[in-house]
Amino acid sequence: MHELSICHAIAGIVVEHAGDRPVRTVNVRIGQLRQIVPDTLVHCWSLVIQGSTLDGSRLRVESVPARVRCVGCGHTWTLSAPVMLCGQCGGHEVSVLRGEEFLITSLELEEV
Ligand SMILES: [Zn+2]
Repeated sequence: MHELSICHAIAGIVVEHAGDRPVRTVNVRIGQLRQIVPDTLVHCWSLVIQGSTLDGSRLRVESVPARVRCVGCGHTWTLSAPVMLCGQCGGHEVSVLRGEEFLITSLELEEV
């Protein structure tokens, strides 16, 4: 599953950064064009961290709406459906401004 491998990747990065300190919450930002379902990701997180040093931590997902710009006329809009078609001039050539993010924004650690 897509989400499961992503959680493994996130866990690897988190462990590297947190060191020995227990992690309370992992905040991630994910663009909607990534086609990741936040609820599924959170569920997978609970599976991936079982029995690991991250057990008990929480994954908090911030979903970023996709924003694109028409190359032809410069019109920009937020995608409500994965249709890359300019509503103003009908152009097919659009560039993605936002929505492809995938990053860990912050870690909340337990005070030791
Ligand atoms: Zn256009």
